[in-house]
Formats: sequence, structure tokens, C-alpha cells
Amino acid sequence: MNKSVLVRYIDSLGRIGIPAGIRERLNITNGDSVEVIFEEGSIMIQRYTGETCLICRETEDISPFKNFFICAKCKHELTANSTSDKSLTDNNTKV
Ligand SMILES: [Zn+2]
Repeated sequence: MNKSVLVRYIDSLGRIGIPAGIRERLNITNGDSVEVIFEEGSIMIQRYTGETCLICRETEDISPFKNFFICAKCKHELTANSTSDKSLTDNNTKV
């Protein structure tokens, strides 16, 4: 394991900044979730890889979709959109 030690300061609200290089290596971007793990006097932060909706980050009623997870609500919205797109295509074909 490649270990890096950096000194970061905690602000008045208890926040720290994760350096851009580390975020890039962990594939973490704005809005992503991380797990904060406290163990024996240490804190470890790692990318959250649990089952959340790819679109809205919902954790309830999740089902797999290809290599991702998607919630029932988003799946319904995507299905409704694809159905309306198909009807538009069919109408254009008839003209
Ligand atoms: Zn969703």
C-alpha cells in the first residue's frame, strides 16, 4: 500500500479539505459520498461504494442496471421518457 501523510487543518465547522490529487486517484468528485470510518483513534475516509441510485443517490428500492444501480422512481422516469420518444419517432415516420 502506497502511504501518504499530509497535514490538513480543521476549520471552525470541523471540515477538512481533501487534496485534489487524492480525490482524482480515488475518483471522488463534488457530490459523491464518502465513508468516514473511526477506528482505534484514527479516521479513514474512503469512497462510498454502497448501493445508491446513479442518478439521484437514493438508497431505497434500488435495482441493478448494467454496471450501476438505479432506483424505481428514476427507472420509471427513464422508461416513460423512452416510451414518449418512441411515439414521436413513430409519428415522424408516418408523415
Ligand atoms: Zn434515482
